[in-house]
Amino acid sequence: MKKAAVIGGGPAGLTAALYLARAGIEAFVFEGNFAGGKMNDTPEIENYPGFLSVSGFELSESISRQAQSAGAVLVSEAVTDIKKEGKGFILTSHSGENLFDAVVYAAGTEKRRLGIAGEEKFFGRGISYCALCDGGFYKGKTVFVIGGGNTAVSDAIYLSRLCKQVFLVHRRDEFRAEKHLTSLARKIENITLLLSAVPTEIKGDKRVSAIVIKDKNGEREYATDGVFTAIGADPVTALLKPFGVTDGSGYIIADREGVTSVEGLFAAGDAVAKKCRQIATAVGDGAAAATSATEYLERLEE
Ligand code: NAP
Repeated sequence: MKKAAVIGGGPAGLTAALYLARAGIEAFVFEGNFAGGKMNDTPEIENYPGFLSVSGFELSESISRQAQSAGAVLVSEAVTDIKKEGKGFILTSHSGENLFDAVVYAAGTEKRRLGIAGEEKFFGRGISYCALCDGGFYKGKTVFVIGGGNTAVSDAIYLSRLCKQVFLVHRRDEFRAEKHLTSLARKIENITLLLSAVPTEIKGDKRVSAIVIKDKNGEREYATDGVFTAIGADPVTALLKPFGVTDGSGYIIADREGVTSVEGLFAAGDAVAKKCRQIATAVGDGAAAATSATEYLERLEE
């Protein structure tokens, strides 16, 4: 029986493992400390088809159980090195070196943190890194969005339709975001731009209640119900550097079927260069990459 390793235990990785195991391939998921990936950061998911509302933890548990019942093995270890060995790959993790016939890489991205006081304390209690996931909890409320790229400006526009007031805080006076988005944001009445300004502290008791913003006039405290941070994310792809499969920003170049330029190496989920990064798309990527890997492994056996 051929052996495949899946690196990453988020929705893309777990779905890939489910499909591989169902295709009769020995599938091992290296999930780091626990499965679920960024899904676990989201208290309530309302945009995953089939569920009116589900917690990220619950959804990840459920996909995890499904993958395991199909025969996938979850390994609570992080992969620290990947080497090509003939047609296969040697993966190093805490338990040592293991040889696999194929690898599906689905380690995702890491959202950048502001690194200011209160950010860690109030995570999930007024601080969010995903407007699309959590915006619904702020209907009729006041929120701050931090960042000046496409994500921040799109988030501010999206939240302006739900919230009473949206403050968009950007550290420069020019946006990195595309012009049509910034022009639209400027026209929306309940979006206030705070430019050349940075947050310095997030305050509250049990939940966020205020944010301190610093600009050329000094620091000022604003009352707020929530803070959406959208200052970019970095793909977790350092292990793939020697394979030359990443673009200038570190995202993996793969086709729609998850095929990379390295034989036997497939990719899925947020670490892939693409536009829409959602659980629904990660799951689709995982299924596609696993199907490509299965076909590849069948060709190896011929
Ligand atoms: P991004 O383009 O990297 O923008 C990050 C923004 O956060 C920048 O404005 C940056 O400021 C700011 N920033 C970074 N570190 C900061 C810090 N420590 N404190 C305060 N501000 C900080 O990230 P993104 O907006 O998530 O977009 C990522 C990629 O996805 C981009 O290629 C984007 O085009 C794409 N995307 C596209 C769409 C769309 O097409 N509608 C939607 C979302 C994302 P500076 O500008 O000063 O560097």
